[in-house]
Amino acid sequence: MTCFVRPRLANGPAGDSTLLLDFAFGRRAVLFDLGDLAQLAPREILRVSDVFVSHLHMDHFAGFDRLLRVKLHGDGTVRMVGPPGLADAVAAKLAAYRWNLLGPDSGSFAIEAMDWTENGFETASLFRAREAFRRREIAPPSLPTGCLLAEPGFQVEGATLDHGIACLAFALQETLRVNVHKARLDEMGLGVGPWLTAAKALVRAGAGVETPVEGPRGEVLPLSALIAGGVLVAAPGQRVAYVTDSGWTEANRTRILALAKGADMLFIEAGFLDADRAVANGRHHLTAAQAGRLAREAGARRAVPHHFSARYEGRGEELVAEFEAAYRRSGEA
Ligand SMILES: [Zn+2]
Repeated sequence: MTCFVRPRLANGPAGDSTLLLDFAFGRRAVLFDLGDLAQLAPREILRVSDVFVSHLHMDHFAGFDRLLRVKLHGDGTVRMVGPPGLADAVAAKLAAYRWNLLGPDSGSFAIEAMDWTENGFETASLFRAREAFRRREIAPPSLPTGCLLAEPGFQVEGATLDHGIACLAFALQETLRVNVHKARLDEMGLGVGPWLTAAKALVRAGAGVETPVEGPRGEVLPLSALIAGGVLVAAPGQRVAYVTDSGWTEANRTRILALAKGADMLFIEAGFLDADRAVANGRHHLTAAQAGRLAREAGARRAVPHHFSARYEGRGEELVAEFEAAYRRSGEA
């Protein structure tokens, strides 16, 4: 299956939490969490349009400066969504620097920072480089319950977990997957090209079957010809879920299972060995075995443990082994 997004832990399973979701098409990327970004290439950071911050512990937010440094003199807006306090945190970060060299001739770079709860957006602030990052309050978006971002091709859903403080978990859901069957394309004498991207977008947007599509040589054919001919086949969209710092509580488990249900890929924190469960509990974290069990119960097709505690440096295989044992087990963990 061709992936809609290519998810990659920027720092591997043991470093700061940061998941880069690089879009297969469109020169765009989304970040789940904003830990150390040193391992990302500037061209990857430049593609980032949206950042979803789970909580404001340093290992999830310290990458803000790198993001700002790389994007500062460019154009476009970065949207940032996090738990209550996110917009204040962005304002505080920006207040650390002097911006007297910015002005009306600066690039159009801007940051929108929004505080989100399960009841919706609480606040939204806009910081524009041309205004020396003076804070403006703006109207927050109004989206369906549980939704942090909605676009024609995908949406990002969220849930609030208890980590001693509020910690958000995220899932990127592709709206509808549209696959191209190359053999059928050949049978119809049609070549590949940008026209196919446009045709797929029409199907995803729910266009009527009589909608005209311009083929590779400029010929016009109805969308129905491509669907009936088996060239374009729609299927449920890909789902990538991300869960980090979370205590092992009933409420957290319920929310994690709902968010990660049937995920094609689940990234879930597995910071501690089960022998150190008491330490994990005290810090509101999951153990590897608990994470593996949740991944199995959610029915995740692939599950990747991450956020290993520094106390296990060089012992990552032990965490992976405990995680895998619980994930693969058919009975109770
Ligand atoms: Zn934390």
